[in-house]
Amino acid sequence: MFMDKNNQPYVIAGPCSVESRAQLEAVTEAMRKVPQVKMIRAGVWKPRTQPGGFEGLGEQALRWMQQLSNRYSVQYCCEVVRPEHVSLCHRYGIRTVWIGARTTANPFMVDEICQALQGSDMTVLVKNPVCPDVRLWIGAIERLHKIGVREMAAVHRGFSMYDNQGYRNAPLWDVAMELRHQMPQLPILCDPSHIGGKASLVAQLAHRAMLLNYDGLMVEIHPHPADALTDALQQLTPAELRALLDTLPNPSASSASTAPELDNMRLEIDDIDQNLLRLLAKRMEVSRNIASLKHRLNMSVYQPDRWGRMMNDRLALAEQMQLKSDFVKELMEKIHAESVRIQMENSGQG
Ligand code: PEP
Ligand code: MN
Repeated sequence: MFMDKNNQPYVIAGPCSVESRAQLEAVTEAMRKVPQVKMIRAGVWKPRTQPGGFEGLGEQALRWMQQLSNRYSVQYCCEVVRPEHVSLCHRYGIRTVWIGARTTANPFMVDEICQALQGSDMTVLVKNPVCPDVRLWIGAIERLHKIGVREMAAVHRGFSMYDNQGYRNAPLWDVAMELRHQMPQLPILCDPSHIGGKASLVAQLAHRAMLLNYDGLMVEIHPHPADALTDALQQLTPAELRALLDTLPNPSASSASTAPELDNMRLEIDDIDQNLLRLLAKRMEVSRNIASLKHRLNMSVYQPDRWGRMMNDRLALAEQMQLKSDFVKELMEKIHAESVRIQMENSGQG
């Protein structure tokens, strides 16, 4: 369901919140003219970080969605926060719902929503939890799978960190990559609106998601973003969305290319990776030999002074070679941990 025949991204777009029938109708009219937009998002219950804000129009908004869905032949989706929202969505013909970031972080709430979903054929989108814990994200997906939900997709909307790297929610692309490694069949959409928090960042984030071969996007759209009752800074106008979609890289072009230069560079990378692995195997062989020597000399496997000197040396080299120090540090830590593990195994202590 999340990829069309032409391998185009599956786009869900619409307002952060339904604010009036006129606003919903204006977005709907505009979105049905955008071929890439397959579904309209529209928040009806809004879990707000601070009290006193607009919390959504609830059932009234669902009634408008049903009327407009019949009039314009479009499909809507919305967030469910409590179990009773599931049956309300069902009553008003909503067949796709999403679980928000604050809910995914709470297994009890996910379980309650699961109970309400049991036996229905709804499609469920699961946003990442607010904290960067891939296991919580996977846990929510597994809970849904267990009660029989078969149509699902993950939505990457960024993580709430002390330092959000200039975004509203730090993207931490690696966390989403980890989910994709663990659940390769699960479609994944990017929500650049909640990652960016500013309209000016949305296009570049969407672009990046396409280069990473995401299956689609969920983007917030408002006819007059400045007047929006929620998330005013990050919503795009329909015209801005059209411009963004027209300049997106085509994901199908990123895997199978016909450019010979690209093929050559890929061969070069394959070759370099083989060499890297060969060197790593050689390094681990030396570790194995060191283990027996240390054993004979009655030395402990882990030598903090030596490790500290090695790391400083590698980081200085990294700087000379213009490699990012965080990256080299993490890589060296991984290699060292494996080396210690091998030495423990070979010293009769592991
Ligand atoms: C939303 O999509 O409007 C929303 C509140 O999302 P999130 O759960 O990602 O904060
Ligand atoms: Mn929003």
